[in-house]
Amino acid sequence: MEEKIKEWVEKREQEIKALYHYLHQNGEISWEEKKTTDFICKQLEQMKIPYQRFADQTGVIGMWGMNSKGPVIGLRTDMDALWQNVNGEWKANHSCGHDAHMTILLFTLQCLKELGMEPTGKIKCIFQPAEETGAGALSFIHKGLMEDIDYLVGLHVRPIQEMPFGKASAAIYHGAAAILKGKIYGVQAHAARHHLGINVIDSLTAINTAIRSIPVNPVIPATVKMTYAQAGGKNFNIIPDYAEFGIDIRAQTNQAMEDLLERVKQSIQSAGKANGAKIELELLSEMVAAQQNKWMEKIVGDSIKEMLGTDNLVPPPVTPGGEDFHFYPRNNEKLQATMVGLGTDLKPGLHHPNMSFHLDSLLNGIKIMALAAWKMNQK
Ligand SMILES: [Zn+2]
Ligand SMILES: [Zn+2]
Repeated sequence: MEEKIKEWVEKREQEIKALYHYLHQNGEISWEEKKTTDFICKQLEQMKIPYQRFADQTGVIGMWGMNSKGPVIGLRTDMDALWQNVNGEWKANHSCGHDAHMTILLFTLQCLKELGMEPTGKIKCIFQPAEETGAGALSFIHKGLMEDIDYLVGLHVRPIQEMPFGKASAAIYHGAAAILKGKIYGVQAHAARHHLGINVIDSLTAINTAIRSIPVNPVIPATVKMTYAQAGGKNFNIIPDYAEFGIDIRAQTNQAMEDLLERVKQSIQSAGKANGAKIELELLSEMVAAQQNKWMEKIVGDSIKEMLGTDNLVPPPVTPGGEDFHFYPRNNEKLQATMVGLGTDLKPGLHHPNMSFHLDSLLNGIKIMALAAWKMNQK
């Protein structure tokens, strides 16, 4: 099978790159992937894969096969682009490679179809919207769409600093992330008589010092920092009574995140209130860390070795970046999941407006996904 997949993919090189370019030029931001959803639906129709789409949101799930002898395999891609300034023009821009991920999944399906694979169970082709918001995976979980899946594989292109073109890993150990938004309420006064007021900027600076001084476990990477602060009005001679702030928290494991988040909240409350101000805190978003799954890493790792060569399987990168893919196994205990890390020579970095990568890595991605799906289908 390895040889057949390789041959099929290499013959389709031009078609694969053309489809990638189309998706790249037609990026849409989170929750607005309407044309992208239409396009995917058409592609699934052409492959005769029935699908389910949704009246209340973007995204689509293809359902290939109706057998019950084998497992339900999920193959997942994200779909959204980012809104950013690209050389002076604001636009939806695929700088996180989700266009590459969609291309890889579409051709993986086409390859398996044309090579005559019959699902022993079902193959769920998951085109998930809004990864960048951290809420896309949760929307599919809340719709109950992921409950029957046994094995789930996703893929993300990696920056050159992490992995060169030609190599791949059988997992990506993303960290956990959380964003807190806070509001501070003080009391206004004339700046000449500041003792009559409560200055929210004193609370802000106290909060910043307190969160920067939290002693994190030195063996588990973790960071806390203020990323947004706003206080005061137009007059510089008034003690300001209202401020808003944002805090970004990262930790490499879910347990470390849980502990750290609790300490951050306590520090904010005690430091911010020391001058008598009132604090309101809201957890704006949360991303869970990757959980290792050795069994899935073995299947995907073997696929990488057979497709790219034994030396080109590299250890999973450990990254402080977040990815909402990891909500799937976190919310379903029987679900076994891993995410392929694909070496692409991607520069200068993910989310950079001029991000680019080696397009031949699309072919590598399809080869790996197709063989991994083939292997899982035999389990
Ligand atoms: Zn991203
Ligand atoms: Zn991404």
